[in-house]
Amino acid sequence: MEKKQFQAESKRLLEMMINSIYSQKEVFLRELISNASDAIDKIYYKALTDDNLTFEKDNYYIKVVPDKEKRLLKIMDTGIGMTKEELENNLGIIAKSGSLAFKTENEIKDGHDIIGQFGVGFYAAFMVADVVTVISKAQGSDEAFKWESEGADGYSIEPVQKDSVGTEIILKIKENTEDDNYDEYLEQYSLKSIIKKYSDFIRYPIKMDMSSS
Ligand code: ADP
Ligand code: MG
Repeated sequence: MEKKQFQAESKRLLEMMINSIYSQKEVFLRELISNASDAIDKIYYKALTDDNLTFEKDNYYIKVVPDKEKRLLKIMDTGIGMTKEELENNLGIIAKSGSLAFKTENEIKDGHDIIGQFGVGFYAAFMVADVVTVISKAQGSDEAFKWESEGADGYSIEPVQKDSVGTEIILKIKENTEDDNYDEYLEQYSLKSIIKKYSDFIRYPIKMDMSSS
């Protein structure tokens, strides 16, 4: 297992997310579902130009799986997946997306502004989770990797077994505090209403399962 540090800007954004006083924490789900949908788009467009790939619509979907007992919420997709390098570059470095690049120090302190105007993407997961695990297998690769982070201290990455191409994001949902209730992110009905509110336009099926494992 390898341990790595986040790039400085990523660390800053992460710290902001972890300590976020932003009230609409539920938007983390919109961000993760939109990434899942983007990943399916990518495999779809690849299939259009690659004769070795056939796109069968039924094989492409997003699944949201809450496990109340273990306080885990899993968001999985059958999209293009990420290689080890992509996990490191896409999840460890945010310079590309530019959300922070245009923001001054002062604006950065106001999480509301950034989330409202740009969306913060993947790191929004840290608003509701103590531990974020990403298991991914890239299309065309026969190895899979697990990326895991407990926040600003960095992340670890290691090989893992995964049969199908795609990505699983596993969130260890925070314990409730006096000010914030996180249990709703483990409840099927509230997850459904968050999905309806923010992700109704997603063009792939969003399935929901109660975990039995
Ligand atoms: P953005 O979506 O604006 O690029 P994010 O922070 O949401 O920024 O995601 C960063 C990058 O991580 C994405 O651009 C993508 O390359 C990668 N990524 C995130 N989630 C997934 C996923 N489910 N499948 C494949 N790649 C992903
Ligand atoms: Mg995104």
